[in-house]
Order: sequence, then C-alpha cells, then structure tokens
Amino acid sequence: MTVKIAVLKENAAGEKRVAATPETVKKFIGLGAEVTVEAGAGAFASVSDQAYADAGAKVADRKAALKDADILLGVQGPEPASIKGAKASAWLVAGLNPFGERKRVDDYAGLGVEALAMEFMPRITRAQSMDILSSQSNLSGYKAVLDAAAEYGRAFPMMMTAAGTVSAARVFIMGVGVAGLQAIATARRLGAQVSATDVRSATKEQIMSLGAKPIFVENVAGIEGEGSGGYATEMSPEYQKAQAELVSSHIAKQDIVITTALIPGRAAPRLISDVQIASMRPGSVIIDLAVEQGGNVEGAVAGEIVEKHGVKIVGHRNVPSRLAADASALFSRNLFNFLSAFWDKEAGRPVLPDEDEITAAIRLTKDGKVVNERLLG
Ligand code: NAD
Repeated sequence: MTVKIAVLKENAAGEKRVAATPETVKKFIGLGAEVTVEAGAGAFASVSDQAYADAGAKVADRKAALKDADILLGVQGPEPASIKGAKASAWLVAGLNPFGERKRVDDYAGLGVEALAMEFMPRITRAQSMDILSSQSNLSGYKAVLDAAAEYGRAFPMMMTAAGTVSAARVFIMGVGVAGLQAIATARRLGAQVSATDVRSATKEQIMSLGAKPIFVENVAGIEGEGSGGYATEMSPEYQKAQAELVSSHIAKQDIVITTALIPGRAAPRLISDVQIASMRPGSVIIDLAVEQGGNVEGAVAGEIVEKHGVKIVGHRNVPSRLAADASALFSRNLFNFLSAFWDKEAGRPVLPDEDEITAAIRLTKDGKVVNERLLG
C-alpha cells in the first residue's frame, strides 16, 4: 500500500507559508509516497500549482486531497471542521499551537486523527533538523531587524559623508535565543552598534562572539548553563527588579530595541515599561517579537504599529510568514526530516514507536483521546 500525503492550503488569516515545497514533494515521492497538494497551497510562498505538479504531486481540492490521505501536512493546525473527511487514523503534522488552541486538540481527538505538534519537538541533537521553532525563529530574528530599519528614520551604519557624519544606530536585543542571535548578527551586518541581554548566562559568550556587548544583571543570579532543554523559566522578583533597573539605564541610550523573550507554556515576560519607553529618544523603534504570546513591551499591540512618546512599537503577527518562501522551505524540510527519520521501509510509511522520546513529546491525540502529558498534566 502506498502511503498518501496531503499538503493542506493554509486558511488562517495572514498565513502565507506552505508545509511542502516541490523539493520535499520530490523527496517524499522518492521514499515511495503519493503526494496530493491542495490547489493554491503555495500561492503566497511563490510556489505555483504547476511547480508541485512538475515535482510529481497531484493537485486537487481539499475534499479530494483529504480522501484516503494517511498524513496531512500543515503549517498551522487546520480548523477541525475543515478536515472532516479525513481518515480516522490519519496523522495531522503541523504547528498546532497546543496550549493556545487547546479546544482544537479535543476536536482532533474527536475526529480520530493522530495530531502531532511539531513545536513540541524535544530539543535533542537528533531532532535539531526537525525543529520548526528554531528554523522559523531564525528568520524572525533577521526580519525583525529589517522591520526596525524600515520604520527607523535614520541609518544603521556610521557614514562619513561630505555633508557630515551619520552616527551608527544603537541596537539592543533582549532575549538571545535563536531569534535574538540572528538579530544580533543581522544588526551587526548592517553596521549598528549592538548590545544584548538574556537571563541565561550561557548566552554571554555567544553575544561577545558575534561582536556585540553583553548587558547582564550581575548582582542577582540568573540561569546558569542551559536549564531544561535550553529554555528559560520565570525569574524571581529580585531578579526582575534588578533587570528593570539595568534596562532603565541602558534603554534610554538605544535607538532600536528588539525583544524576543519567551517562556514555554507561559505568557511572555514583561521587559519594557511605558516609563522606560518615555525615556527613549523620539524616532526610536521597538520590535516586540513576543507580541502574540502576551508581549515583552507595555503597549505593544499584535498586528499593529503604535506610537508612544514618539517611539514606534512594532507588533507584527506571524513574522516568519513575512518571509514566506524561505520560511516555507525550512519548515517543509523540518517536516520531511521528521517523517523520513521514522520511515519504515517495509511498512512503506513512517512509524512512530510509542516508547520513542520524540513520539511522546509531539503526539497530542491517538485513538480518539488526548494523550500528551503536557496537556493532561
Ligand atoms: P525562546 O524562544 O524560548 O526564548 C528566547 C530567549 O528569551 C531565550 O534565550 C530566553 O533565555 C530568553 N528569555 C526568557 N526570559 C527572559 C527574560 N526575562 N529576560 C531576558 N531574556 C529572557 O528560546 P529559543 O530561541 O527557543 O532558544 C532557547 C535555547 O535553546 C537556546 O540556547 C538555543 O540555542 C537552544 N536550542 C537548542 C536546540 C537543540 O538542541 N535541538 C534547538 C533549538 C534551540
């Protein structure tokens, strides 16, 4: 039996990415799969239906794509009602936002599909190439700097011209995970003077190795080493106070601030207050990459650019989607790397062993029930 893969067209507002590219379609076919792409799925990521067809996929409407499909691929989780015709045992592989869309998880269970949440991929070496959070955050960090540059009424690099000198922009990055590191590198490439901070002390060296200045709370202990899976946790009130004081004195001298701080499963930590924004020079720009998780910046609004005290606060939603072609290419490879790693030649399809660490982490539903520990616990 040939395994059938359906690539869904994204229906969420503003979502331009797609979960497979002609490259990954070819690779799936190479493994023996049959691939059907929903018509128009790649339109906003610069991939035509013809390009999918040339790669060997069938192009069909959703109903036909769902029929008999064993595996559904998506970027975001589809509305449960929109996949009603899917086979009961089919896998749904996508970024399912399990905490934010908890009700949907129940509905997927109700449909009988096996929902696999790619953002729950464990941060282990074996799974690095399957990590959608990393691949998409990297592009977000890059785009955040370009978005800041576009809103900023001044230049980034120092320029010595016949009409006088333009001074370099001072850029401060808060949160030095995958997005923050790429933001530092991008701002440096544009010629800015860059500083950065994080609660994890391991990032200090990374900041310096990229040619930026670390700004760290020294009198209260932060997180030593990498913590659980490299993620941050909520900090003590003492730390938060010390951090606020440090940021207050630093931020008034910055032109651009990019915040990326997240804590898995919780609201994003508040890092910048309205009073601190008021201390910045008019014309400064703040980009809040955590705006959809509650925001690092007071007054940031998801999907909007607001101005407070002459400072622009940018809260774009779904930043990876703003680079839809590259974001799709990387996301699609993450999905392929995951499914091909579990490909069982005899079965002619991927098989997820129950006892595998990856299975336990990403499987949300099976046989009509919600089975994921993080959702049940
Ligand atoms: P993230 O998106 O969860 O958070 C972004 C950053 O914000 C983190 O560096 C975090 O420490 C920081 N942060 C949280 N609270 C803060 C606060 N109050 N003030 C300042 N900063 C705060 O993180 P991420 O980008 O997903 O990466 C986290 C770590 O995981 C990194 O070290 C990364 O290299 C590592 N990682 C490992 C793997 C792997 O081994 N497979 C894959 C990806 C990332």
